[in-house]
Amino acid sequence: MKVAPDIYRLTQGVSNFYLVEDGGKLTLVDAGAPGDWNQLVGEVAVLGRDLVDLEAVLLTHAHSDHVGFAERARTAAGSSVWVHEADAKVAKTGKVGKTDGKVTPYLFKAELYRTVFILLRRGGIKIVPVREVSTFADGETLGLPGRPRVVHLPGHTPGMSALFLEDRGVVLTGDALVTRNPLTGRRGPQIAPSGFNTDTNQAMRSLDTLGGVTADLVLPGHGEPWTEGVAEAVRLAKLAGRS
Ligand SMILES: [Zn+2]
Ligand SMILES: [Zn+2]
Repeated sequence: MKVAPDIYRLTQGVSNFYLVEDGGKLTLVDAGAPGDWNQLVGEVAVLGRDLVDLEAVLLTHAHSDHVGFAERARTAAGSSVWVHEADAKVAKTGKVGKTDGKVTPYLFKAELYRTVFILLRRGGIKIVPVREVSTFADGETLGLPGRPRVVHLPGHTPGMSALFLEDRGVVLTGDALVTRNPLTGRRGPQIAPSGFNTDTNQAMRSLDTLGGVTADLVLPGHGEPWTEGVAEAVRLAKLAGRS
């Protein structure tokens, strides 16, 4: 689904991933769940492009529902796979560290079961390791289609990073700011639930950093696009607090 000029949202119903087109070349931001490969192939064909046009896969962070089919893109399309240096080891090994909270407090939420059910069918509960990754750091502008700039927003994971497309006024926030809570189902701008975060306090503080980005359109890792600007999204996420 087109969400902005030359930006397309793909989703299996839980996590979002986005194709950014630039002069006939493509960058993918996040790679869904492992079973979402065919969605990518279909969308690339609809755009009249070829898999070899997919230059890069940028991972906002190393969680299974975002690393998805990155390794397959690397081997089948020859794309380079990028992640923040602090998440590189997890992306390469598939071994995730401890989180800040337990998932048990969410057991009475239907949304938890919806998320798990959809991801299970897509093989999205465990990371498929990416054997070769390139790393980026805060503030870097990457010489890839869309010329994304890295905004490091640690807390959800140590390497959690948004990707800012400055000339388009668009920021892709991954799970630093979402508009649908994958454990409670709550809608609206908010940080990810504690059960998925390595450091929830840090995730809250990173909202201030995100607030320094000027963009009208926010494309989150979970939930619908947010069109009322970064400042308002950050204000509401602070108001929502932790979950
Ligand atoms: Zn995540
Ligand atoms: Zn996620």
